[in-house]
Amino acid sequence: MTANTNPSPATTVSTDFLNHVNALAGEDLVRCFSCARCTNSCPMAAEMDVPPHAIIRLVILDDRSRVFAARSAWLCAACQTCASRCPNGINMSSVFDALKELAISYQNQTNPERKFHEQFVRQIRLFGRQYELGVTLGMGLSWRTLKRDFPLGITLLRRRRLPLLPGISSSTGRKMVRHLLAQRSPSR
Ligand code: SF4
Ligand code: SF4
Repeated sequence: MTANTNPSPATTVSTDFLNHVNALAGEDLVRCFSCARCTNSCPMAAEMDVPPHAIIRLVILDDRSRVFAARSAWLCAACQTCASRCPNGINMSSVFDALKELAISYQNQTNPERKFHEQFVRQIRLFGRQYELGVTLGMGLSWRTLKRDFPLGITLLRRRRLPLLPGISSSTGRKMVRHLLAQRSPSR
């Protein structure tokens, strides 16, 4: 029996996803050589399930399901430490922003971090500023969680740290905020 010496056919990876992320983020991820300096300097890396440098590999490999299943993008604090440490000047904060936008079209991929982000932006769009109680209610928390956090909520209310009603920005302020949000996500 003769061994098969034919080389296995090369696997072609589509670059559509990579190009889309690059265009939205204003970066060129192909320049990344996986040195992991971004991950080693990231204050949120310990909380992320997929570290920043590995996210780039997954984007390059067109592994969208793993990219969108990861919590990492929603946990990025946009501190830009990674950008200042990267030898190629890649700003992971912009990459994560792009991935958050793209994740919206993956309706089947959801997690609490994404839900929180959506509620946070929704309140800002509505009132021109943050409304914590609106975010809490919008999260659709379970009865058990609400019961657990109820004493903390009462304490915050008493100390006036959790307003019952939303503070509403001026109409000009709200228009400006909506304009900024529309510029970032024209489809939403
Ligand atoms: S520091 Fe820059 S080059 Fe290194 S892994 Fe991170 S993004 Fe890639
Ligand atoms: S911008 Fe995001 S990814 Fe970069 S170091 Fe800060 S938290 Fe980490």
